[in-house]
Amino acid sequence: MAEYKYKRVLLKISGEALMGSLAYGIDTETVKRFAGEIKAAHDKGLEIALVIGAGNIFRGLSSAAAGIERSTADYMGMLATVMNALAMQSALEELGVDTRVQSAIPMQTVCEPYIRRKAARHMAKGRVVIFAAGTGNPYFTTDTAAALRAAEMECDALLKGTQVDGVYDSDPKTNPNAKRYDKLSYHKVLSDDLRVMDASAVTLMRENKIPIIVFSLADQGGFDRVMAGQGVCTIIGS
Ligand code: UDP
Repeated sequence: MAEYKYKRVLLKISGEALMGSLAYGIDTETVKRFAGEIKAAHDKGLEIALVIGAGNIFRGLSSAAAGIERSTADYMGMLATVMNALAMQSALEELGVDTRVQSAIPMQTVCEPYIRRKAARHMAKGRVVIFAAGTGNPYFTTDTAAALRAAEMECDALLKGTQVDGVYDSDPKTNPNAKRYDKLSYHKVLSDDLRVMDASAVTLMRENKIPIIVFSLADQGGFDRVMAGQGVCTIIGS
């Protein structure tokens, strides 16, 4: 069994990944599969925090365009991340993984409010912590929330689970000759506008010297392999 390179990581899962083959909402089979991958890594001693997006339910920007006032639409998007977080908590606890949800928008009857020191303590005790409601502020995204929490929790890496197995020089879905980068610098991601994550998230990771690892969540066992340094991915660093 390969040793992990990292002790504590933050895994960002986009809301869209939770849809599976559905057109909208939460595919419970997909959530269960992700929970299984997280449990396998957790069983090997990895400390894991999660940030989950909400693109499967609600996206502030597109709803703003459709007529809802932007900040209100963003708050709706943040509330949608709480639903995804609760679905993931349920799937993880079903597998016997102790999990806490902390929301950046306090809602004590549903989950804990975000308290940095308490979250760190949960992690040290081996609990998976799911950070919900993004940063708690409109005009941000869950990518930035993931970077912020990764820095606050002093994570060794920020993992971005996507539908593709890394960052390519062009879209691999349309260009069969697209080349995947094994490694990239923060600077290249920003200067070439590679859109792996928001620029604010990449900048925060650069300032805090936390590598960003982009990998595919669609591959069974992908999380374990990437953590063991054997998986297909792109590592963004200095
Ligand atoms: N959002 C926000 N502030 C945050 C995080 C999220 O306003 O700190 C809102 C925003 O409207 C966004 C929505 O929540 O569109 C869902 O998040 P995101 O688009 O990042 O989800 P993903 O693309 O990862 O599924």
